[in-house]
Amino acid sequence: MSTSLLYHAFGIRGYTYRRTDYQSGHVIFTIHQEPQACRCPACGSADVQSRGRVERRFRLVPIGRRATFVDLAIPRVQCRACGVVRQVAVPFADARRTYARSFERYALELGRRMTIKDVAAHLGVSWDVIKDIQRRDLARRFAKPKLKHLRHIAIDEIAIAKGHRYLTVVLDLDSGAVVFVGDGKGAKALKPFWKRLRGSKAKIEAVAMDMSPAYREAVSTNLRGAKIVFDRFHVMKLFNDKLSDLRRALHREATDVLQKKVLKGTRWLLLKASENLDEEKDERKKLEEALALNKSLAVAYYLKEDLRQFWEQPGKVFGTAFLDGWIKRAEASGIKILQQMGKTLAAHRSGLLAYYDVMITSGPMEGTNNKIKTMKRQAYGFRDQEFFKLKIRAIHETRYELIGP
Ligand SMILES: [Zn+2]
Repeated sequence: MSTSLLYHAFGIRGYTYRRTDYQSGHVIFTIHQEPQACRCPACGSADVQSRGRVERRFRLVPIGRRATFVDLAIPRVQCRACGVVRQVAVPFADARRTYARSFERYALELGRRMTIKDVAAHLGVSWDVIKDIQRRDLARRFAKPKLKHLRHIAIDEIAIAKGHRYLTVVLDLDSGAVVFVGDGKGAKALKPFWKRLRGSKAKIEAVAMDMSPAYREAVSTNLRGAKIVFDRFHVMKLFNDKLSDLRRALHREATDVLQKKVLKGTRWLLLKASENLDEEKDERKKLEEALALNKSLAVAYYLKEDLRQFWEQPGKVFGTAFLDGWIKRAEASGIKILQQMGKTLAAHRSGLLAYYDVMITSGPMEGTNNKIKTMKRQAYGFRDQEFFKLKIRAIHETRYELIGP
C-alpha cells in the first residue's frame, strides 16, 4: 500500500499511510495526519495548536469481497487567529457518516443497476445505509426543482394506499418530468407548489386535469390567465368507468346463463379502442356478439368510440360542433349513464374545447402513474414517505432501479 494508491483507489489524499491490518476478513488501513499540516476548519488559518485527537473509522469501497476501512485519529486544534477549538476537516468523508465519499459514489453507481437490497448485501451494510445514500442524492438533485421554464403542466392525484392515502403529482408536459409531489389531494396539497412557483416567476400557459373540482379552483386562483384543459385521458377514463358500471348492472340483471357469460367476457373489450381489438383472438366477433345481445350496451359502446373522435377534429369550430352533437345524442339515447356523461361534458364545455387552443393532455401522466404503481407495491414507500416522494420525482430517469427491499 502506498499513499498514492490510497488516493487513486479510495480518494484519500493529504495523509501519511501507516499500516494495513487484516482482522476477521476485513482490511483496515491506518492513516495519519501531521499536526503541522492542519489548518483551522473555521477560518483556514495555519496558526493552530494541537488539542488532542478523535479516533474515527470510515468504510471504503471493498477490495473484492473484503470489507475495507480506514482508521484515522482526526486532530483537534485550537485556532490562534479566530479562537475556535474543533476537529479539522476530513475531505474524503462527511464527518457525520461512517463511510467515505468514494464509498457513497460507488453505492450510487451500483444503485443504477441493482436494487437497494442487492447493493446493501454486496457492500455488507444495512438496507437503510444505502437508502439514506440514495435519499440524500435524490434530495440534492430534486428537492428544489427549477420551475422557471414551466409552460404546460398536468395535475393529478394518485392513491398510494387503497383509497386512504393520496399524493398529488404535477408533471411538466414539455419535458415529462415530475416537478412536484404533494401530500394528500385537492387544493391543500398544491399549496407548497404555488409558493415555489411564485418564487420562480414561471409563466404557466395551460394546465391539464380531470373534471373534478378538486384542483380547478386552486388553479384559477393561483394561475390567473392559465388555460384549464379537461383532458382526453381523464374524460375517457371517466366514460370507461361508467361503461363498466353499465356492463356490471346488465350482468347482474341478466337471467339467461349464456347472456351472463357473454357479458362477463367483454369487460376489457368494451374499454379497448376498436382499432386495437385483436382479430386473431376473435375479439371483434366476441364484442359484436355481446353488443347484439344488448341495445343499451351497444349504444354506449359506439358513443364511447365516437367520443374519442372529439380530439381528432381539424380545429375548434369542428370540435365545438362535434362536442355539441355528441352531447345531444347522449341526451337523446335515453340511457342513464350516457345522459349523465352528456351533462358532465356540457358543464365542462369550455375546458374541453380549450384543447383546441393548447393541445395538451395528461396522457404522459398515465405512464407516470403506472410506474408509481409498480413502486408502491414495494414496501419502502410506506416506511419513508419522503424517500418515496423523491423516488417519484426521479421516476423518469434510469439512474435508479425502482425496486425496494
Ligand atoms: Zn480559525
